[in-house]
Amino acid sequence: MKKRLSVLLLLVLFALTACGETAADAQTRTVYAMDTVMNLTAYGADEETLNAAETLLHELDTAVLSRTAEGSALARLNADGAGEYDAEDALCAAVKTALSVSEATFGAFDPTLARVMDAWGFTGEAYRVPERGELAALRAQTGADKVTLHETETGCAVALADGVQLDLGGIAKGYAADLLRAQLREAGVDSAALDLGGDVCVLGTKPDGSAWRIAVKDPADGEGYLGVLTATDVCIVTSGVYERYFEENGVRYHHIIDPATFCPAESGLVSVTVVCENGAWADALSTACFVLGAEDALSLRETLAAQGTAAFELLFVTEDGVVRYTDGLADRFVPNEESGYRYEAVS
Ligand code: AMP
Ligand code: MG
Repeated sequence: MKKRLSVLLLLVLFALTACGETAADAQTRTVYAMDTVMNLTAYGADEETLNAAETLLHELDTAVLSRTAEGSALARLNADGAGEYDAEDALCAAVKTALSVSEATFGAFDPTLARVMDAWGFTGEAYRVPERGELAALRAQTGADKVTLHETETGCAVALADGVQLDLGGIAKGYAADLLRAQLREAGVDSAALDLGGDVCVLGTKPDGSAWRIAVKDPADGEGYLGVLTATDVCIVTSGVYERYFEENGVRYHHIIDPATFCPAESGLVSVTVVCENGAWADALSTACFVLGAEDALSLRETLAAQGTAAFELLFVTEDGVVRYTDGLADRFVPNEESGYRYEAVS
């Protein structure tokens, strides 16, 4: 399911970016990592740079952030309950950011839901609806307050309370996009669009100096789109109920968990798109804002902007078919009037 939608997004993206350019101008690479199809488009990148990009994505997945890949740094941390890392170690930085977002979102983003994801069978796709008591028992093994991270002379140390396991699925792709952008910049690439399975980050502008045009997909129709965002040096990340789910007795259970209930979040939203310069924050905030629902997400945005913690824009699709987007997107978002949705700018 997830794979198919990612491919469709790619098609839309290419349809919208290819105008006026010859296909030969852009170097492209498709990578399968982090359980999803990723499509990289870069200008001025040679074969070696794209190989290095592909290697980075595979390594971040299987050697660092995957919970299920045997021997990954995260799998080892979960098994051992503690780990020490060099300052530049990717896991250290990912956990640190995850904890920051968790604090900033009052726990709506919770990187300790590994056992809850297991209980619902999202790990390994052995889907099931857990008993209430089974979920309640997991309370003791979840919560960002049960994770400690402190700086050491050479980097950082992470410790998990008894039985606690981390799941970084809500931030991994955005974080990977940040590292990939940095690596591409270092290789001299300053124009690229990276679609990591629906988490899109763009580097610079298109070679002709115009902004990238990114289609925001319609959560109800894999082939449709809600509108087009113009984007320069920014990430556009969507969390939605359609990404991963199963159905039992006519009820749909999706993969974004409300840490308050340990059940799929029911916040009146179908999808949330976050536009933010930082990919890891965009990714984690899209998950958190989905949990919070429109009103709380809008006030979180104001709070984090006022604190100087994070600046971001939001685009929601509500269950009753309204697309709401924050005023910072007003001159960057062109609604698709044929989509059947009602559009509303909010301040
Ligand atoms: P995303 O597609 O980025 O919204 O991330 C969803 C993934 O993040 C799930 O597949 C889980 O691995 C994880 N996850 C689910 N609920 C949460 C949550 N409330 N906070 C943090 N991570 C979550
Ligand atoms: Mg996310």
